[in-house]
Amino acid sequence: MSSAYFDHNATTAVDDGVLAAMLPYFHDRYGNPSSRHRYGREARRAIDEAREQVAATLGAASAQVIFTSGGTEANNLALHGLASRLQPSRLLVSAIEHPCVMQPALALARKGWGVRQLAVTADGVLDAEDLYAALAEPTALASVMLANNETGVLLDVAQVVEEAHQKGALVHTDAVQALGKVAVCFDTLGVDAMTISGHKIHGPKGVGALIVDKRIDLQPMITGGGHEKGLRAGTENVPAIVGLAAACRLAEQDLARKLLERGSLRDRLERGLKPLGAVIFGERSERLPNTSDFAFPGIDGETLVMALDQAGYAVASGAACSSGSSEASHVLQAMGVAWETARGAVRVSLGRDNTAQEVDGFLQVLAAELGHLRNLPGIAFSLAE
Ligand code: PLP
Repeated sequence: MSSAYFDHNATTAVDDGVLAAMLPYFHDRYGNPSSRHRYGREARRAIDEAREQVAATLGAASAQVIFTSGGTEANNLALHGLASRLQPSRLLVSAIEHPCVMQPALALARKGWGVRQLAVTADGVLDAEDLYAALAEPTALASVMLANNETGVLLDVAQVVEEAHQKGALVHTDAVQALGKVAVCFDTLGVDAMTISGHKIHGPKGVGALIVDKRIDLQPMITGGGHEKGLRAGTENVPAIVGLAAACRLAEQDLARKLLERGSLRDRLERGLKPLGAVIFGERSERLPNTSDFAFPGIDGETLVMALDQAGYAVASGAACSSGSSEASHVLQAMGVAWETARGAVRVSLGRDNTAQEVDGFLQVLAAELGHLRNLPGIAFSLAE
């Protein structure tokens, strides 16, 4: 039986080279980077080099890199850390942000911030009119993701920066899904803060970074020792930081070729999905080349995902991070997708090792599963709905 992992937006395998780079720091080079002796200095050097690498990949300066325990912490640090240094004012977040931006935004609302969600169009991109309207009122901070984790749709963060900076607002972007899949440059984008995560780019889980413009005052969330220039206390996770840097190096290697390959595989998938009756979300927008989010109206996404899993194909229903909840995706709701369709959402996110044979095998299995489900009374609806 053929099988494949098609859930790379949820997580990726640690690359062999990344693992090899990390391993010495678990055992032989286990020093605490704060120690003065040679063990400590060795670990400190590794962190310094990692910081240089992460900065080089992202087009930032090494002094701008703060290592965190992942994308979630970096997003929390960005919103709370930037907002804490400002008078409560208005915060804009796109309506399709990951929960680890949405929840800090809600927490800030409880502290007196006026939080406004920026609308997206049916194609999943920012609604420019709504952005202008939102920025017509005094605003201190905006957080808009570079690429959406569910649909893969790319948002025009450069435009947000241009408009927001004119009004004196700071801009943070969550680049967790964009990194390694499209070109990402902190300097060119002109954002004030940017989040990345290790495990989406063949690095380890539990490590990420917030890149912050040096001129910006950030309030730490975790206090203690003076680690990370006092912005994130706690003994550094040296192996994970080394792994994140190695994964960043990997992410930038051969990016153009990888994007082309991923894109043509995704197009092959979508050419096969159409005749089966799929609605593809964000299809007309610029998207991550590896992501396809789709539904078969009348077919429950969770049921389909379980059936595909049984058949050997690992795909996600809705957002991986909120799987287990039966609510329709807030991303699709923001795009105005009807609940009936949104609850059928299935996401395929391809990775570097996926092949055309796997995609073809998947389409065959999918066609068979849809045949079963459409014939099951109580589960299937008419496709004409
Ligand atoms: N932001 C986005 C867009 C994500 O997709 C995710 C993870 O799925 C995160 C942030 C959270 O990153 P981490 O898993 O490193 O906490």
